[in-house]
Order: sequence, then C-alpha cells, then structure tokens
Amino acid sequence: KPRVRFAPSPTGYLHIGGARTALFNWLWARRNGGTFVLRIEDTDRERSTQLAVDAILDGLRWLGLDWDEGPGVGGPHPPYFQTERLDLYKAHAERLIREGKAYACYCTREELDAQRKQAEAEKRQFRYPGTCRDKPYDPSRPHVVRFRVPDAGATSWNDLVKGVISTPHDTLQDEVILRGDGVPLYNFGAVVDDITMEINLVGRGDDHVNNTARQILMYEALGYPVPTFAHFPMILGADKARLSKRHGATSVTAYRDMGFLPEAVVNYLVRLGWSHGDQELFTLDELVRYFDLKDVGATAGVFNPEKMAWVNHEWLKRRSPEELAKLALPHFRAAGLPAEDDEKLRHVCAVARERAKTLGEYVQQFRYFYAPIALDPKAKAKFLTADTRPVLQAVRDAIAALPALETQAVEQVFHGEAERRGVGLGKVAQPVRVALTGGTASPGMYDVVQILGKDETLKRLDEALR
Ligand code: GLU
Repeated sequence: KPRVRFAPSPTGYLHIGGARTALFNWLWARRNGGTFVLRIEDTDRERSTQLAVDAILDGLRWLGLDWDEGPGVGGPHPPYFQTERLDLYKAHAERLIREGKAYACYCTREELDAQRKQAEAEKRQFRYPGTCRDKPYDPSRPHVVRFRVPDAGATSWNDLVKGVISTPHDTLQDEVILRGDGVPLYNFGAVVDDITMEINLVGRGDDHVNNTARQILMYEALGYPVPTFAHFPMILGADKARLSKRHGATSVTAYRDMGFLPEAVVNYLVRLGWSHGDQELFTLDELVRYFDLKDVGATAGVFNPEKMAWVNHEWLKRRSPEELAKLALPHFRAAGLPAEDDEKLRHVCAVARERAKTLGEYVQQFRYFYAPIALDPKAKAKFLTADTRPVLQAVRDAIAALPALETQAVEQVFHGEAERRGVGLGKVAQPVRVALTGGTASPGMYDVVQILGKDETLKRLDEALR
C-alpha cells in the first residue's frame, strides 16, 4: 500500500503548483487505500512562519485534501515538523560518520569562501575538494557533516513520470547534510524523514529532479530500500515560463476569495498534467476511481485562467440556488453589501448562475440589487431621455397598481405597454433596465423587478423620472 507525503516548506501561501503536487499524492493514496502524510519542512527558520503553516493547512482543508498523519492529527511517526526532529537527523548523521559514509568537515566559512573566489577567478565551478574527507572525527570541534559521494559511477532510477534518469557522480559533490547547529539540509532531512515515516513513493515537482540521485545515495548509505519517485512537470504560464505571480493569482486562497469552488480548483488542477479520455469534469469520487500516476504526462501543463473559470462555472451551475446563496453570502458581505441568506439572495443566485463564472462575479455583476445603481452615462444619455419618460411613467404606474409581483403580472406590464405603443418589447424594457440596474445588460426585467421588490423598483423609477 502506498505511503505518500506532501512536504511543504512554510515560507508562503499554498501555491497552486504545490496544491497540485499534494492532490496527485492524495489521489494516489486514496485510490490505493494508502496513507497520505503531511510533513512541514520548516528548517529554514528565517523564512518559515506560523502564518504560512496555517495558510497551507487551511488551503489543503479547503480543497478537501485530508491527511492521515501529520499536524493536528498525529500518527505513528511524530513529530511532523522538521525542527522538532533534530535528534533523529543527528543520530542518522552520526551513524553515517561511524560507518565512514559521512564525515565531519572543519573548514571555516572563510576558507571555503576563499576557495570559491579562487574558482570564480579561474572560471570553473566550485566543488568542495574533500579537504576533511580523511580527518578523524572530533565532535568537540565546530564542524558540519558532509556526505561522502562515490567518486566514480552514476546513480539512476526509473521515474514513474519521466522514465529512466541517470546522474553521474562526478557532477555531485560531498554536500553538507547537517549544519553546525544541528539543522539538516533539505536532501538529508527529507531522506531521514521519508525513511522514518516509511514513505514508499515520493511524488513531487520536477524542480527536485536534481536532488534525487543525491537522496538515493543517502538511502543506500543508510541501508534502506529506495522509494519509487514520480516527478511532476512544473505548471507553466501562457508564455511557457514557470507559473509565477506575474501570470496572475497563484495562491489557492486567492482563488477561494475570488469565488472559485474547491471542487472546481481540484478539477482544474488535476487536468494540468493528467487526463482520462476527453472528459473535462470530474467529481472527487471519480478522480479517486480513475487517477493513475502512470497517466501523469511528462510535459508541463499551461495554466489557463479562462479555462479554470469555465470549469468553475460548470461546477457552480450544478449547485441549487439554495446552496449558491450560502456560498455567495460571504462574498457579498465581504464587499460590504447587506445581503442575507434569504429569498432575495436565492433569486439573485438563480439568475447569476447562468451568467457569472465565479462567486466574485456574482457580486461584481449584481451589486445593484444591494446598493444604489452606478448609472452608466452612455446608457443614461441613450435611454433616460425626454422620449422615454412616458414609457417609464406608464411602467411605474402599472407596477404601482399591481397587488403582487407575480411573474405573469409583471410580464404583462411590459408586454401590455409595448402593445399599446405598437413598439417592440425592448423599447419598453431597455429604459426601465437602465433605471433599475444602471446599465444595459441585466437579467430579464421580471426577475429584476421581483428581486428589487415593489418599493425599491418604484423608488428607482421615480429617481429616473425626476
Ligand atoms: N520542502 C520541499 C519543497 O517544498 C519538499 C520537496 C520534496 O517533496 O521532497 O519543495
């Protein structure tokens, strides 16, 4: 049974690339009845924050990616924060030293800096020359621990996504695995954790491909079976550069705040690198049934915000007005609009459902139901004129005379007025639309009148007639 993990560094929000990595691992665990472990790689103490930890956990929870072991839920291999596991790294490093597979390096920063400068001057890549390789171990002297990389040969693995990859050892160096203060470097911390947490499949972004041979050498040195690796191609922007802020929002939370549904984000992200025939829309249950890491493509997916909005629209359309009202309410409130979870909001959502792709667009497009209209000057010049006054007045009086705003009755007001004047419906509806909504595009007049209610409708028409 797979034991997989997601191992974010809490130095910022949950990036959608990270979310996709988590999702692929989660799906693989769920599909195979495996275990999904969450581990926080917080060894960069300067850049790691509690805020980022919370943001990442929040983001994962919102997406519905629950973890079986990790922060908050515990598990058999605690703790799940690297800074709380320093004893483990130390013990493993000391074992490697005892067995001659790692060694203490006493070189000072100054010495190494001088060597680095020298290499720069000679225009060659600096590589640690192995100065301390054969020095005896003296734990009382300040030191770092370096891993002894074999001089000759190569390490290769069969990547589940990328196929066979081979790294010649002469491209590697004796890298530092443990700093003087006992904090591990990424490769070593990750390996010790993946070993002790019994991870048997490592799925992560392909920005880590260059670390994998070094990690495999560490598994072998420590005498543990090497896990399977799957490296997922990075998500790219439209210009084929790695997705970054200049391509738009990249945090999961930003999409939540814009009014995307978690099922839509999951659905869109999984399709960036994985497919199942021509099917575009998948429920989480379907994904768990169909997902296979072997079907993850080796070429990078290009992030397309419009496609993502389309997917979101599809998922919004599958919700009832009742559900949508509950989902949209916080968005209206966040915009300072006095919406309630009531009949009015349900009606707004029923008309917004076909027209707006995100809950944020519900607010942008329909704020006039909760706030004074923002009268478009062009629409005003064209439709609120001396010519249209009689129509507005007639519609106003007819609505005022209605005992209730039943759809048919409201409809009859507009049709009746058009017939009486021998004009098309638009000639009547359009001036009224501008008066009630401020613009020339809106849902049907009957919906608008019903949502606004009689008092507000008359108030806006009076305003236009003033
Ligand atoms: N903390 C690393 C990262 O966020 C984890 C890489 C890995 O999955 O091994 O990139």
